[in-house]
Amino acid sequence: MPLATVNTMAEEILRLQGVSKHFPIRSFRRFGEVVHAMDDVSFSLGKAEVLALVGESGSGKTTTASVIAQLYPITSGLIRLADPQAPDGFRSVSGKLSRKALLGYRKRVQMIFQDPFGSLNPTHTIEHILSRPYVIHDKVVYRRGEERRKTALKEQLHQLLRSVGLEPPQQYLDKFPHELSGGQRQRVNIARTFSIEPEIVLADEPTSMLDVSIRMSIMNMMLAFQEQKQVSFLYITHDLAGARYMAQRIVVMYAGMIMEIGTSDEVVQRAVHPYTKLLRSAAPAPEEGLKRNRLITQGDIPSLIHPPAGCRFHPRCPYAMAECSRLIPPLKEVEGGHWIRCYL
Ligand code: SF4
Repeated sequence: MPLATVNTMAEEILRLQGVSKHFPIRSFRRFGEVVHAMDDVSFSLGKAEVLALVGESGSGKTTTASVIAQLYPITSGLIRLADPQAPDGFRSVSGKLSRKALLGYRKRVQMIFQDPFGSLNPTHTIEHILSRPYVIHDKVVYRRGEERRKTALKEQLHQLLRSVGLEPPQQYLDKFPHELSGGQRQRVNIARTFSIEPEIVLADEPTSMLDVSIRMSIMNMMLAFQEQKQVSFLYITHDLAGARYMAQRIVVMYAGMIMEIGTSDEVVQRAVHPYTKLLRSAAPAPEEGLKRNRLITQGDIPSLIHPPAGCRFHPRCPYAMAECSRLIPPLKEVEGGHWIRCYL
């Protein structure tokens, strides 16, 4: 696939162009082999857009968020961030960044992790955890008449906790993460993410480890933040219905590659790719149980060490043809802004 971006949005803030990420296997017996976590991934994120990345475990969606967050270097391709100073309005953030540049990048791009239990340091109080971003990024705001930095910081922390529904805030500051419920911890995570007012938030299945009863309130809270602060969101999930609720557009990934991109309504209601149809038909509807017209496929998600030749979905696809196992299908636009990777 050429290094093209796939978007209908006028103003973009982030572009991934042909990005691949291969993890070497650290085993003497498998020397030289790699895990193809992402291959030739191209998409762009619009300003104040919510874009959902959907797929099963092992589809490469978390790796995609992690390389954007600069947790790992990419193997090939380009990640570019909007920069008004750059000649064409974008600068590359694909290579290794200096400490200062990385700090600046993290100010603009923040991640919410899936695990509300593991992502907060258990030895620190909530006050310490939430103060760090303000101190590191020098965001403590002094107001006229206020003399002490500590007072100003505490006031900002109170406001922050109120904004995520943790009230009264003074009750939470001295607590340790283990004293909070899963939902309260994820609220603290979200508060920490938004404390430095990022432009892009990468939310990696932020509700998947929470009780169903509180998922909706967390999703609505993220949407309210996104709207108030006009933040761009990359929302990662395996749940197509949740993706549709949150996002304007959906990117469907399978075995490290993009299979379909389109507006949420297009992808959910008029899915074209057989894998998207499988995801849709596998979702149980509460009133009818598992759907009778479920798409029947065989096999499991393939090995990413030796991914199938040709279309990565062909060993499971009920419509596979001879050519499907020979060459990787290119991403093609079937109608304005709706792209699929399939020979059908
Ligand atoms: Fe199925 Fe072939 Fe399309 Fe792949 S390219 S999804 S195997 S029909």
